[in-house]
Amino acid sequence: MLIGILKEPANENRISLLPEGLKSLDKLKSSIIFEKGAGERAYAADEDYTQNGGKIADIHEILTKSNIILSISSPDKESLSNIDTSCIVISVFNPLSDKETVDFLLQKKITAFSMDMIPRTTRGQSMDILSSMATVSGYKAVLDAAMNLPNFLPMFMTAAGTIRPAKVLILGAGVAGLQAIAIARKLGAIVEVFDVRSDVKEQVESLGGKFVEVEGAAEDASAGGYAIEQTEEFKKKQKQLIHDHAAKSNIVICTAQIPGRKAPLLIEKHTVKAMKEGSVIVDLAASTGGNCELTENGKTTVKHGVKIIGKSDYPSDMPNDASRMYGNNLINLLKVLIDEDGNLKLDLEDEIIQGTCITHNGEIISPRLKSVYNK
Ligand code: NAD
Repeated sequence: MLIGILKEPANENRISLLPEGLKSLDKLKSSIIFEKGAGERAYAADEDYTQNGGKIADIHEILTKSNIILSISSPDKESLSNIDTSCIVISVFNPLSDKETVDFLLQKKITAFSMDMIPRTTRGQSMDILSSMATVSGYKAVLDAAMNLPNFLPMFMTAAGTIRPAKVLILGAGVAGLQAIAIARKLGAIVEVFDVRSDVKEQVESLGGKFVEVEGAAEDASAGGYAIEQTEEFKKKQKQLIHDHAAKSNIVICTAQIPGRKAPLLIEKHTVKAMKEGSVIVDLAASTGGNCELTENGKTTVKHGVKIIGKSDYPSDMPNDASRMYGNNLINLLKVLIDEDGNLKLDLEDEIIQGTCITHNGEIISPRLKSVYNK
């Protein structure tokens, strides 16, 4: 099996597989070709790849000769056009929101696997890049907020007086939110948390956060642990409660999302106005519309004295460990796809393969994508 690693575009510092991952592929009787300088921005030199058995190849060779192509960003249309229909491309295609790319993959009869579609089952956990990258984002969001805050996070009792601990409000207690709670608590802040899923209360409390409950949340056990859209009455009640808590907070970390939909709007303009000058909002939901009305995706702005950081791409800012986690998730998927003799096992009945394979032979395979695409 020949596996090709593509160099990511300039706005992405991660790489799909670090050199250390090549040893695992060796066990799957697979060899690696990679683009020159592919791992540079993730602190992986070409020599590290070649010392682990990798070979440098040009983009054309990777696209036309590989049996499996790995990347994080979806390859551009020109690259996809050069890929043979017998090859498998594994990237993050964001198929639930990027219909145009799905259409192109279907038209070109490309077999595409999207790492953001790994089923969130027990078996899928070791391949779940959404969890891995959310872990990085939750961690980085708190550190970024702390660096931008004109105050300490922990309480200090000094000869110059007592400094009160900062208050951190976290919206959404999924993977990123839980990581943010843990880091903010480690830094000594007081942490309050909102989520619409009541079953996260215990997890929030076990990490030392205070769970603020809003009565009447709609939950759906069939949503696979995800949040669902809330009623207008609930949204109004929740916004008021968040307003009251945000006004007393130094930092707000926004992580609330609903898969395949616009992020819920939780902080309106008047709430930002009510916050203390110098407070910081980090909006991890920026790329899906943001939880804060004043968030600008990819930008840091100051509005009403509050710094608002609209950032959904923290993993690219921590490219070495983020690539390590992405690569480990990828290797675990490759172990499902390749047998010990190095042969491809494209078993479309397998729960992981079926859920992650978005297009094959001009058809949509993932049942989740099918239900969204056909709407
Ligand atoms: P996510 O990124 O989709 O959303 C983040 C959080 O925002 C969620 O906790 C969600 O409930 C919350 N949220 C949504 N709307 C909200 C609102 N209006 N107000 C407040 N909070 C709101 O979530 P995620 O981190 O991807 O995790 C979602 C679920 O998936 C969790 O139950 C998690 O345990 C589960 N999960 C399972 C696996 C697995 O089994 N392989 C792996 C990871 C996560």
